[in-house]
Parts: sequence; C-alpha cells; structure tokens
Amino acid sequence: MAPDPREKFSRIVTIALGAAALVFGISKFSVENLTPLLAALVLFAVFIAPRASIPLPGTDIALTFADACVYLAFLFYGGPTAICLAGIETGANCVYLYRRGFKFDYLMVPVNISLNVTAFAGAYLIWSVLPSAGFMKPEIGSTQHLIVTLGIIAVLHFVLASSVMSFLRAKHRLLDAYKSWRRDFASRAMMHIVGAGLAALVYMLATYGDVLTAVISFIGIGIVYFSYRRSVTELTAAMHEAEEAQRAKAETEQSLRKEAEAHAAALAASLESQERANLALRKSEQDFQHAAMHDALTGLANRKLFGEKLMARIAKYRNDNRAVYHVLFLDLSRFKNINDSLGHTIGDKVLSVAARRFLRLVTPSDTVARIGGDEFAIVLKGPSTAAKAKKVAQRIHASISQPFSLSGNRISISVNIGIAPADMEYSMPEEVLRDADIAMNFAKAQREGVAVFSRDLRTRFLERVRLEMDLGHAIDRGELSMSYQPLVSLSDGKLLGFESLLRWNHSEFGNISPARFIPIAEDSGLIIPITKWILRETTNTMAEWRKISPETRDLLVSVNISGKHLSSDDLLYDIEYALETSRLATDGLKLEITESTAMDDPNLTLKLLKDLKRLGVLLSLDDFGTGYSSLSILQKLPFDTIKIDRSFVSAVGPNGEDSEILRTIVSLAKNLRMKVIAEGIETASQLAVLQHLGCDYGQGYLLAKPMTAARAEAALTEGRSWLPLAVADDPLIINHLDDDGTDIKVF
Ligand code: C2E
Ligand code: MG
Ligand code: MG
Repeated sequence: MAPDPREKFSRIVTIALGAAALVFGISKFSVENLTPLLAALVLFAVFIAPRASIPLPGTDIALTFADACVYLAFLFYGGPTAICLAGIETGANCVYLYRRGFKFDYLMVPVNISLNVTAFAGAYLIWSVLPSAGFMKPEIGSTQHLIVTLGIIAVLHFVLASSVMSFLRAKHRLLDAYKSWRRDFASRAMMHIVGAGLAALVYMLATYGDVLTAVISFIGIGIVYFSYRRSVTELTAAMHEAEEAQRAKAETEQSLRKEAEAHAAALAASLESQERANLALRKSEQDFQHAAMHDALTGLANRKLFGEKLMARIAKYRNDNRAVYHVLFLDLSRFKNINDSLGHTIGDKVLSVAARRFLRLVTPSDTVARIGGDEFAIVLKGPSTAAKAKKVAQRIHASISQPFSLSGNRISISVNIGIAPADMEYSMPEEVLRDADIAMNFAKAQREGVAVFSRDLRTRFLERVRLEMDLGHAIDRGELSMSYQPLVSLSDGKLLGFESLLRWNHSEFGNISPARFIPIAEDSGLIIPITKWILRETTNTMAEWRKISPETRDLLVSVNISGKHLSSDDLLYDIEYALETSRLATDGLKLEITESTAMDDPNLTLKLLKDLKRLGVLLSLDDFGTGYSSLSILQKLPFDTIKIDRSFVSAVGPNGEDSEILRTIVSLAKNLRMKVIAEGIETASQLAVLQHLGCDYGQGYLLAKPMTAARAEAALTEGRSWLPLAVADDPLIINHLDDDGTDIKVF
C-alpha cells in the first residue's frame, strides 16, 4: 500500500538527506583507507554481522555487530569511511532480512539506509564541530578519550536515528512521536552502547595490546559470544517452550472452558426442556383437574365440584345462620324432543346456550353446574329471602323461554326450577338437591315454572313416591279395575257405548282418584303397561257385551290414551293385539286423546292419528276447549268425535244461561263434520240446552254414573233407556261416588 503524500514526502526527504550524507562520506573518503582491515570490516559487516545478531530474550531487540563495525571504521579511518560503511551495513542487513522473507514497505530499503547514514553522519558532524573534538580524538591515546568519543558518537547516532524513526512512524505528530520513541526505541540505546563498547574493546586490543593478547582476547570474546549466543538460544528455546506450554495451557484451558460452556449450555437446555416438560405436566395436571371438576360440553362445574361448593355453603351456614344460600334445581323441559327431532349436535348447542344464559343472570360468587343430561343446579350465595331467590329464578325462567335460532332452526325451550332455601337440617349436598328437585317437580306438575320447597311438598312427594311404587304392583295385586260410564244419544236416548275409566282400589288407602294416580302413572311410564292391560280388559268386555242382544251389537268402548303412550311406538301394536285377541270389531273401540296432548306436537299427532285411523278404530278429542286448539290444525286431524269439556257444560245455569260457548263448539264440530259428545251433564237444563243445540251425545251423572262392568252388563241385559223420563229442574245432589257406591279418595 502506498503511503499518504506527506509520508511519501518525508521518506523522500530522508532519502535525499541520506544521499547527501553518502555523497559527503564518499567525497571525503581517502583511497589510503583501502586496507585489508577495512576490507575485513566491510566483509564482516556485510556477511557476518546480520547473521551474528543476538536477540535479547523477552524483547524485540537484537544486539548486532553492525554498529560495532561502523564505530571501528570511525576509530580507524574517520567519519566519512564510517558513513559509507553505515550505508553498506544497513543495505546488507536489508538484503539479509529480505532473503529471510521480510516484506519491505514502499521505499523502505533506501529510507532505512538513509536513516542510518544520516544519523551517523549527523552524529559525526556534531561531534566534529564540538570545540573539544580534537581533544577527544581517540588517537590521542587515552582510554578516557576513547570512551568519551565513542560515547558521544554512539549517543548522538542513537538519538538522531531513533528520533527520526519515531517521527516518521508517528506520522509527524510530536506527542505521538515521543510516545513511540519511549515505547519502541528508548531501549535500543543499548544496541548502540554495546556496539560502542565492543568497538572500543576491539580498538584497544588492536591498538594497545600485543598480537597474542589480541588473539587471545578475540578467542575469549568468540567463546563468550558463542556461549552467550548458545545460552540465549537455549533461553529463547526455553522461553518458546514456556510460551508454548503457556499457549498449550491456555488452549487446554480454553478448550476446557469451551467444554464447560458447552456442558453448561447442554445442562441449561436440558433444564429448560425439563422445565418445559414440568410445565406441560403441570398444565396437563391442571387440565386434568379442570376436566375432573367441569362439564366438558358447557364448561360449567360438574356434579362433583358443585357438591364441594355446596358442602362449603352448608358448613358455613351451620356455623353462622346469616350466611344464607339458596339452591336452584333446573330441568329443561322437552329437551328430549329437541334431541330426538333435531339431533344431538343441536341438542348439545341448546345446552350450551342454556348454560350461557344461566351464567349471565347470576353473580360470579354463585356456582352454576350441569349435574345431569338436561339438569342444572345453581348455588346462590344469598339472597336473604326465598322470595328474592324466586325472583332470580323467575328471571332465569323468562330468559330461557326466549326463542333463539340454531342452524336455521327456531328453538324455544323452557325450564322448571325448584328452589331449596338454606336449612339447619341439611348436612349433605344431596339433601339440598333432593329438596330442590322435589320443588322442581312440583313446579313442573303445576306448570308454574318456579316453586319453592316446603316440608308439605316433601310429604306430598313421599306420598307420590309411595304411590308410584305401589302402582307398579297394582295390576298383579288385582287392585285395578275398570268403571264404565254410558255415552248416550241425546236425540233418542240410545246407548252409543261406554267410556272406560280406570279405578285403583289401594289395599291401604282405598280408592284413589284417577286425577291423582294417572299423572303419576304417566310420569313414571307405568301408564303404558297399565293401558295395555286396560285395552285387553275393555276390548274383551266389549266383545262379550256386543253378543248380549241386537241392540248391543254396535256398542263401542271409549278408552283414554295418555300422551306418553301415544308417542310410543308400541301403541299401534298394543291396539292391534287387543283387537285380535278379543275379536272385537275395530268400530267397537274408540280412543280418547285429550286436546292438550293432541296439540302438544300437532304434526306428530296427525301422523299417529292417521296410522290409528288406518286400523279402523274411532278417535275422540277429549276435554275439548281446554287445550287451545288451532282451528287450522283441528280440521286436519281425523277425529270422529269432539268431547266438550265438563267445565263448559257445568257453566250452563238452571235457565239455560251461559250456553254460548256450547253453541259455538257444537256448531264448530258440525262444520268440521264431527260428532259432539258433552261430558259432565248433571242437570236437566244442561241436558235441555244440549238437546236444543243438537249435540249428538251426552255423558254425565244425570244420565249415568260410571259403574262396574257387572252393573253395566246387567243394565245392558235389561235394555233400559238412558235418558231420564222426567227430569227435575233442580240440579242433582252430586256426589263423587260411582254408581256402585265406590268412594274415590282425592288426595
Ligand atoms: P275424562 O277422560 O275426561 O273422564 C271423565 C271424567 O269425568 C271421569 O272422571 C268421570 O267420572 C267424570 N264425570 C263424568 N260425568 C261427570 C259428571 O256429571 N260430573 C262430574 N263431576 N264428573 C263426571 P274420573 O273417572 O275421575 O277420571 C278423571 C280423568 O282421569 C279422566 O278424565 C281421564 O282423563 C283420566 N282417566 C280415567 N281413567 C283413565 C284411563 O283408563 N286411562 C287414562 N289414560 N286416563 C284415565
Ligand atoms: Mg275421557
Ligand atoms: Mg274428558
């Protein structure tokens, strides 16, 4: 790389000065000086001095004999010859270094030569102008003179050479030059002093000593030199070795350090992965715990967690009766229908919607849980009274009743809620849930949506449980029987047939009202086996009665079918079976389905009724007027008869007042081409009104009370008329005894 212009300039100036010094040296060179000694000095300086340098261990300085040669030339032949030798010696040294592979910078060789030549020339000129130079001439002969002379020359030579070199190296900055001089060159003063000392020694031996002394001295110096050189070489080798050992140690240390670092990194990585694994384990543990305590579908607490939370509330309340709580038991109604008709995916979504709505209406301190398929429970922390808890429940009830859309289906659900307030008697969560469940069942039965638990409810519930249990054995124990109530033509008093009415004569409680036990039978599902039994019983009876006389040949029996049985797949089969085994003609059997059951799911009803119609049996719409029929649906349903509910008949007064609804229903039925039966006719005026309106058939205590099969059979054999011959205007004294005197207990 070429130096910058300033540096280049200073190098050229240095070379110029060197050239001038050389010209000075050559011009003053005297031919007389060309002696064998000078030749020996030149040869020594060119060939031996560069090779004979001794590096000083631990420094970058090498002692050479080059300066000694120059100073000897000065002592023997004067300054100009020494100037020339300085140039030759430096040049030879450069060649030697070049051969050893040293790379010289731009103009470095001439600059080096010039520096040495100029410095020596400068030293010589300064020395020669010193006033006492003459006095200090070496040839004056005193050792003292020799030392002073060589000392001055060597110091000047060193000062000039080192300061110019520092100046050049520091790129002309004086402060930097000084620092560089101190750092790199000060120690080189030694080279000059040793060189001067060596020159002085050789000069003195050659000048003052005899030849033998000189030879011995030279041999001595040689021995000292070589042994010193050897010891330096050994020292250098030892230092190299030490350095090598140091380096090897450092390398080992470094590799150990690297190994340790790698080990530490591997350890950190393994700790990290272990930590990650721990985290994952902890997370999966947490997930597991969450899953163990929560419902997967809705994310609500599950029965277990709910039990724990409720247990805590119970314990707190038992310690402090101000820590009131209320437990809500919620049961979605008609959820099974949604699952069956729209599928389980929609069913699941409905449950999630319900869960979200529950959560929205409670506070974070309350606990909402899913404790069964469509059953939920909530622990309300507070409120202070059952009335306030009921308000919360009513809000939930209203919110759940809001219809919503799911995958294009408009869905409306509803919920029945039972509330159990905190009570000191509770010690376990199941007890509280049980009572809330009782209240929920009461709310459902009363169609109230929300009910608060009371001890009275529990008594009724326990009774109900008892009845349910006993009803399961009632057929086997022979406690069930059928009553038959005549259905009479209002125009001519002829008998159409009988409505069969179930009676339960409980071994312990006596006769139990159907109004009491039929709902229990329906809820428990017992109504299906019981109705099978009824169908067999009544079809057999009617088949027999039809054989009594020609008048009884076309009688029919009207059997009440519950909604539960209607929606079961068994009904068609059960009817077919009963008809087949009894050999009753299909027109001898009529099925009564209440209006509320028929309108529960009109489309399903339509399908079922069509199937039943295909069998050939007759169909009657029972309790008409209580079930809010839609007329458009009603006209599609294939009923043969409409039975007007007793409440509309009993509303008619002694003078035939309040008969408008009856008139409307009768004319509606006629328009729909259906026959009409009025139930619950109890007075002559009611009968007269119905006859006047053209109602086809009637049923009621005025005409005949329900009676045992034996009594009915006896009446059929008698062949009596069923319309009263002379009817009093006063209502009959009504009791709820069947015609055979059966007392029906109403709970
Ligand atoms: P329902 O089907 O409407 O039966 C007519 C009810 O009215 C019968 O009550 C009958 O005794 C009563 N009744 C008839 N005439 C009069 C009257 O002039 N005055 C008064 N006050 N009542 C009259 P019962 O036998 O107590 O049955 C009540 C309900 O229980 C029935 O109403 C029916 O829904 C149900 N039930 C009765 N037997 C059966 C049955 O075998 N199967 C099913 N599924 N339900 C039945
Ligand atoms: Mg009926
Ligand atoms: Mg009825």
